[in-house]
Amino acid sequence: MCEEKRLRIAIQKSGRLSEKSLGIIRSCGIDFQTDERVLRSSASNFPLDFIFVRDDDIPTYVYDNVADIGIVGRNELDESGYALDVVRDLGFASCRLSIAVPVDFTYTSLKCLEGRRIATSYPRILSSILEKNGVSASLVTVSGSVEITPAIGIADCICDLVSTGTTLKMNGLREVEEIYRTSAVMIARKDFGCEIEKKSILDRLLVRMDTVNNAKKKKYVLFNLPSVKLDEAARIIGGMKSPTVTPLLDKDWVSVQSVVSEDRFWSVFEDLRNLGAEGILVMPIEKMSD
Ligand code: ATP
Ligand code: ZN
Repeated sequence: MCEEKRLRIAIQKSGRLSEKSLGIIRSCGIDFQTDERVLRSSASNFPLDFIFVRDDDIPTYVYDNVADIGIVGRNELDESGYALDVVRDLGFASCRLSIAVPVDFTYTSLKCLEGRRIATSYPRILSSILEKNGVSASLVTVSGSVEITPAIGIADCICDLVSTGTTLKMNGLREVEEIYRTSAVMIARKDFGCEIEKKSILDRLLVRMDTVNNAKKKKYVLFNLPSVKLDEAARIIGGMKSPTVTPLLDKDWVSVQSVVSEDRFWSVFEDLRNLGAEGILVMPIEKMSD
């Protein structure tokens, strides 16, 4: 019998993923309290419970059933080696895993790492890339402060996450090769087994997330247009079933409402203005279903 009817999500307690992960859940209209000292919480208006943990532990917790789903960097998922489902790519916390060497280290390709000591927190990802490139090196696994390792003599170079490269420079290192890209993902166990109810809670959560996400990529546009230009305006707006057209008091004009994707917005806006559209009003969309 399945007694548990709430879904449990693992979220990073504090770090680069925490705030945005919580923001995604809140944007789905889910209310909950957080307090730095408390490692668990429950949503008041959705069957979702939270555990706040270190990001490195999230894949293990999901795999071991401690949590049903989690938000984590793809790097931690791949490094864990667990076969879990990526249910959504969340796109934030993007960065790269790169090789960085001391400034006086001559580097031309991965082959230069042959026989070298490379410090990293991602031995699994790094060794698979070295193996693919036929490079044999000795990996020094450290869980943090990787950039200090060449200076203290325990490694010749490093392989670490980089977003701007400032930390590397401050430690006398030079980024020479990007080997892997990562961003935050929502993970789930492959099989919820008999837990159909949990699966349906996850589906409800995903629909809400997608609805918010769709809305972010669109703008609601409202404008007045001479009626004779309507066909051309519909062509400019494109990619939609039909704009909503409302007659105005002046019989030669209509009011048009439509949804335009964010990436096309400025070109559509300019084309509509050139066509003679007036009073173009643009509004953000809060939620939007498919
Ligand atoms: P924890 O205490 O939870 O173990 P941490 O120090 O390992 O935290 P953070 O530095 O908060 O972790 O990074 C969490 C994740 O954010 C990384 O695994 C990675 O996916 C992503 N990230 C984005 N930019 C960077 C960056 N510049 N350096 C490190 N991680 C980054
Ligand atoms: Zn961590």
